[in-house]
Amino acid sequence: MRRVFTASGLGEAQLVAQMLEAAGVRAQVFNDHAAGALGELPATETWPEVWVERDHQLTMARSLIADYESAPDQTVLCQDCGESNPVTFEICWQCRQPLPGRL
Ligand SMILES: [Zn+2]
Repeated sequence: MRRVFTASGLGEAQLVAQMLEAAGVRAQVFNDHAAGALGELPATETWPEVWVERDHQLTMARSLIADYESAPDQTVLCQDCGESNPVTFEICWQCRQPLPGRL
């Protein structure tokens, strides 16, 4: 198990984990227990982490995250459910339909 990403919020952590899973990388989000305490803790005090389960997938995971971080404001809207996805995604993290404009 290796940590590959520290997110600014649970949503981002889940997005990154979904991105990794979509690419075949086994990933888990930790520190997400804080989501159950919303209302007690300021959201800024939760820094969920994304961990890769298998060390041999670490390089791939870091490459995917580097792509994600290099284009954090670019999103593609899913035509099926309307969810926004990072441009590095090939399928929608929400409904798993192929995203428009993908190779
Ligand atoms: Zn969708």
